[in-house]
Amino acid sequence: SPILLWFRRDLRLSDHAALSAACGSTRPVIPLFIHDEQVAALAAAPKWRLGLGIEALARSFGEKGSRLILRREDDALAVLRALLKETGASALYWTRAYTPAEIERDSTIKEALQEEGIEARSFGGHLMFEPWEVETKAGSYYKVYTPYWNAVKNRDVAEPRSTPKEIRAPQKWPESDALEDWEMGAAMDRGAAIVRPFVQLGEQAAQSRLGNFIAHIIEDYDKTRDFPGEDGTSQLSENLSLGEISPHQCWHAGRRAMEEGKRGAETFLKELVWREFAYHLMYHSPRILSENWREKWGSFPWKDDARAAEVRAWKKGRTGIPFVDAAMRELYVTGRMHNRARMIVASYLCKHLMTDWRIGQKWFEECLIDWDPANNAMGWQWSAGSGPDATPFFRIFNPLSQQEKYDPDGAYVERWIAEGHEEPHADALAFFDAIPHHWTMLPKNDYPAPVVAHEEGRAEALAAYEDRDF
Ligand code: FAD
Repeated sequence: SPILLWFRRDLRLSDHAALSAACGSTRPVIPLFIHDEQVAALAAAPKWRLGLGIEALARSFGEKGSRLILRREDDALAVLRALLKETGASALYWTRAYTPAEIERDSTIKEALQEEGIEARSFGGHLMFEPWEVETKAGSYYKVYTPYWNAVKNRDVAEPRSTPKEIRAPQKWPESDALEDWEMGAAMDRGAAIVRPFVQLGEQAAQSRLGNFIAHIIEDYDKTRDFPGEDGTSQLSENLSLGEISPHQCWHAGRRAMEEGKRGAETFLKELVWREFAYHLMYHSPRILSENWREKWGSFPWKDDARAAEVRAWKKGRTGIPFVDAAMRELYVTGRMHNRARMIVASYLCKHLMTDWRIGQKWFEECLIDWDPANNAMGWQWSAGSGPDATPFFRIFNPLSQQEKYDPDGAYVERWIAEGHEEPHADALAFFDAIPHHWTMLPKNDYPAPVVAHEEGRAEALAAYEDRDF
C-alpha cells in the first residue's frame, strides 16, 4: 500500500530523508501538501513565496512521473485521515518542523495515527543538529553562540543523499486542488510582479546559487559579507527557509571549499550554524518568538505609541537616514535585506525610535520572502538587546558611520534611493511602483530630513536604558 509523503518546509527532492526512505521501500509514494491553518496564518510575503515554491515542487514531481497532491482544510489531521482512507495508504512520512505550533500539531497527528495502526514517521533534514542532541556539560541548552559552535563544529554532518531515481506512482491518484484556487499571492498588497524578478525559485536555482557562491564568492566571504552594495553573500536564505536546499548540502560544499583553502569558507560554516543556533534557542525556549527573552526587558519604556508616525516612516523607507531607507526599500522591492542592513534598521527602530522589537519583527514577517521564524526572532531580540547572546543595548549603531564603513562608495544607497538623482537606478524607481496606493506621500524628488537624528536618538535611548539600570 502507498506511503503518503507530507511536504511542509522541505520543498526538494534531493537530500530528502523521508522521500529517500519512502522510495527505498519500493512502495508507491503519494506526495502531498496541505494548506492547513498554519499555512493560512502565514504573512503576506512568506505565503506568496511558499505558493511559488509549491508550484516548483509540483513541477519537479511532474518531471519524475509523479504528482504533488494539494488539499486545503484547516485541520491537517482530518485531511490525512481522509487521504489515508481514500488511497489505502498505511504510512505517512514527513520532515520535522520546529515551531511550537508545528511541534504540537505533528505530535498530535503522530500519536493519533499510530493508535490507528498507521506507520507515522518523522525524519530530520531541516537542521543538521537536532536541538535536543546538543547540550552543555551541565545538561542544559546553549544560550551563547560561541560555545554552541565549539560543541558542533567537528560533528559529523550526514552526507547529502541524491534524488531518488524512481518515485513509484500509485495505481490511482487521489484528487488534488488547483494551486491557483489557493490564491497564495492574494495577500501581497505590493506589486508581486515587481518582487518576482528577484526570486530564485526551486531546488535547481538553489543549487546554482550554491555553486556560484562556492566558485566566485566564498573565498572573500569573510570580508565581503558585510557590504550590502556588493554581491558578497550566498543569498541562500530564501531557499533554506523553504527547504529548497538542505543545510547539509550547504555545509558539505562549504567544508570542501575550506579543505581547498578558500579563506572565507569557515565564516560561511559559522553562519550556517547561526541558523542551527536560532532553532536550538526556539526549541528550548519558545518564548523567544514573542516575549522578551530577558525578562527584565518586559518593563522597558518603549515609546511605540508616541512614535507611530516615525514607525510608519521607517516602514516606508522615509526616515531621512539614507542607509536605513535604502534597506527598507530593498526589503519592500526584493523581499530580502542584507544582514548588515537588517542589523542597522533593527537598531534604528529599537534604539533611535525606542520602539518594541516585535513591531519590527512583524513588519519583516510581512515582507520577507526568506522569512524564518527562528532567525527572525533571534535577529530582532539580538538587535534590541533583549535576547540571549544579544548586542548590549548601550551599543547603538550610528547609521551614518555604518554607511561610511560598509557602503563607502555609496553603491547601496544609490541603488535604492531615487531622490536627489537625475538618473536614478532602476531598482530605486521600482520601489515607487511597488508601493500600495494608500502610501500616497512619495514625491520622487523630496528626500525627508531625519525623523530622529542619530545623536538625539542615541541620547534618549541611553537615558531610558540607564534609568532602568538594566
Ligand atoms: P549568508 O551570509 O550567505 O549566510 C548563509 C546562511 O547562513 C543564510 O542563508 C542563513 O540561513 C544563515 N545565516 C546567516 N546569517 C545568519 C544570522 N545572523 N542568523 C541566522 N542565520 C544566519 N534570516 C532568515 O533566514 N530569515 C529571517 O527572517 C531573518 N530575519 C532577520 C532579522 C534580523 C533583525 C536580523 C538582524 C537578521 C535576520 N536574519 C534572518 C539573518 C540574516 O540576516 C539572513 O539569514 C541573511 O541576511 C541571509 O542572507 P544570505 O542567505 O545571503 O546569508
